[in-house]
Amino acid sequence: TEACLNAIEGADALGAFVHHTPNLARDQAKAADARLAKGDAPSMCGIPLGIKDLFCTKGVPSQAASGILSGFKPEYESTVSQNLFDAGSVMLGKLNMDEFAMGSSNETSVYGNAVNPWRRGNEETALTPGGSSGGSASAVAADLCLGATGTDTGGSIRQPAAFVGITGIKPTYGRCSRWGIVAFASSLDQAGPMTKTVRDAAIMLETMCSHDPKDSTSADLAVPDFEAMLTGDIRGKTIGIPKEYRMDGMPDEIETLWAQGKDMLADAGAKIVDISLPHTKYALPAYYVIAPAEASSNLARYDGVRYGHRAQMAQGDGITEMYEKTRAEGFGAEVKRRVMIGTYVLSAGFYDAYYNRARRVRALIKRDFEEVFDQGVDAVLTPATPSAAFELGRETSDPVEMYLNDVFTVTVNLAGLPGIAVPTGLDKQGLPLGLQLIGRPWEEGDLLNTAYALE
Ligand code: GLN
Repeated sequence: TEACLNAIEGADALGAFVHHTPNLARDQAKAADARLAKGDAPSMCGIPLGIKDLFCTKGVPSQAASGILSGFKPEYESTVSQNLFDAGSVMLGKLNMDEFAMGSSNETSVYGNAVNPWRRGNEETALTPGGSSGGSASAVAADLCLGATGTDTGGSIRQPAAFVGITGIKPTYGRCSRWGIVAFASSLDQAGPMTKTVRDAAIMLETMCSHDPKDSTSADLAVPDFEAMLTGDIRGKTIGIPKEYRMDGMPDEIETLWAQGKDMLADAGAKIVDISLPHTKYALPAYYVIAPAEASSNLARYDGVRYGHRAQMAQGDGITEMYEKTRAEGFGAEVKRRVMIGTYVLSAGFYDAYYNRARRVRALIKRDFEEVFDQGVDAVLTPATPSAAFELGRETSDPVEMYLNDVFTVTVNLAGLPGIAVPTGLDKQGLPLGLQLIGRPWEEGDLLNTAYALE
């Protein structure tokens, strides 16, 4: 814990941590020492972690990187962070992210962006750590903590993990409780670990998961010992390669990496088969209807009364003016864009044309996966991202360009499946690249084991 606290102090330029909690960390570390001395050593005892700012942490600022939550200190702890603390983990502080987890580059944060610790060759140009869990990615890659929590609504664990060369898993929808995690799109949001290795991810995921009566979508299923399932033996497993993920204009290096991943799994004894997921091309548009629709409803609660920021009112202002001014001041541009898209697609005149159609597309995407799993495919192998980390500022002017980053990851959230990004190589300029494995629902143990064979 002390080594991490020191490292964090020297790493302000990365912008990974947005709130520091050294006193809490030292208290938790002492308590962990005492547990260890008594021989009571749960899996995560004394492990120093960073917690994404989207998680409510009791008495500690939890702002979802938004101005509208400035000064908000929750009275309660999220179930996931509580599970980690119960297992002896230490919280070093809160991690940077895109505002309300909306973004792919960490640039929509009210705190300013986090930075990728990697550089392209000898260039000085600062690169994005990805988003929305950019602070988590940057902190783990720069050795500021041993692991971090992330959340993934459309790729926010897997894309940043790939951009900084670490492992990140989004479990099956319902594995981790969403209670106490600031809601973005409730039918897609899942928490997951971001760690240096697949083994660390297995240990941390097991600790994070639990059935939680406070989240009606949390699954009442036993959580397996994921670490014990890491045998590295994938003989007889069938890995599907979806032809629809071969995108026009995909860099050769990503193609090569994907082919190498296939070879590695084949060498380890897996059977590789070509598969088709025909509705893949509609995933991104469906996601960018469903996610903003749910966000516009979830974000209605930020009204200047219940949480954080309230605008200064002028003489004669009524409650409507107060709401309007508060929301105009408190939300950033991307969040406003999503609220507007969301209210539009949910409005009476357009509900069927956009929202309902997107929901039907979502069902088809889910069915595509069910069909390949029914045909005996155990996991699907794809690239994690369409490129390596890009320069900060490059895509901020064009939201659609930014949305294209999620092309390989959103299908997984729409279908509720577990997906993992594993670092598998470097591009010509020395930047990390990752592959994604998508598994059957509730089979994170098998998925982690397949990822272990790729590591
Ligand atoms: N980049 C996607 C978005 O902006 C995904 C974000 C996420 O997974 N939280 O919506």
